[in-house]
Amino acid sequence: MKEFNENDSVYDEVDGMEMPCKCDCGQWFDLNDGKRDLRWGSNKIICKSCHNNQLKRKDIEDQIYELETHDNKKREIKKLKKILDQLGGPIN
Ligand SMILES: [Zn+2]
Repeated sequence: MKEFNENDSVYDEVDGMEMPCKCDCGQWFDLNDGKRDLRWGSNKIICKSCHNNQLKRKDIEDQIYELETHDNKKREIKKLKKILDQLGGPIN
């Protein structure tokens, strides 16, 4: 492992870290503070800010999924019931 020089700017970033790791985003983080990459098939450890970004994206993806399935059906049912009412309501 590379010895860190005190004049090296990286030294400040990794100061006090037990196992410094460099994230894909360029941020240094301690392996102990790292988070698992949520992307499919990835076994990478990523920094906290990338992790938070992934959580936000996951949340929005879930909301979109929810809207595309559940809520869309509700709207569809409402529309069909309206048409049915205009035609004279349910037969039975
Ligand atoms: Zn990162």
